[in-house]
Amino acid sequence: MRLSERPLIAQAEIDECVKRLARDIAARHQDGRGLVLVVVLKGATIFAADLMRCLDVHPLRIEYIRAKSYDGTHSMGEVELIVLPDLSVAGQRVLVVEDILDTGRTTTAILSALENANPASLELCTLLDKPSRRVVPVDAQYVGFSIDDHFVVGYGLDYREAYRSLPEIYVLEPSNG
Ligand code: 5GP
Ligand code: MG
Repeated sequence: MRLSERPLIAQAEIDECVKRLARDIAARHQDGRGLVLVVVLKGATIFAADLMRCLDVHPLRIEYIRAKSYDGTHSMGEVELIVLPDLSVAGQRVLVVEDILDTGRTTTAILSALENANPASLELCTLLDKPSRRVVPVDAQYVGFSIDDHFVVGYGLDYREAYRSLPEIYVLEPSNG
């Protein structure tokens, strides 16, 4: 596997998108009740770090949840969630921050785990969306970019733990293709 020669999404486009998402989120949360950002580890960390720094919502609480469903470039179908014991969100407004919506299985598992904790509201923000891959319907209130069915890396997204620290988003292509 090798990286596409040019990025699929350049740094300036990501910056602009993050600012737009932050504005949209803030517009719905201006009444002082605050928000709990639930960042999905590990892929959403870089996106979330940029997003929270432009997000004019207060008080803003940051929590993390770990989800694992991929082995290399293949979705395994089963989702493993690791929730920290102090993730109590009852009565609070929650926004899940995801890197990418693919089949929708991971996000559905995360949303239903959080729904069981009785939040006041539950929204979803994803940087990337691959709608053509959806198996389980998912409603995302905030979507950064809709992309075609590519396996992408960079800006937090990995292939076997590599490429997360790239500042732009690339397509991972077969080396012989
Ligand atoms: P889903 O459960 O929606 O099929 O998969 C969601 C998770 O799979 C994402 O949070 C991400 O970790 C991983 N994933 C799906 N598509 C891609 C992709 O194109 N690139 C990378 N690096 N991970 C992906
Ligand atoms: Mg992920």
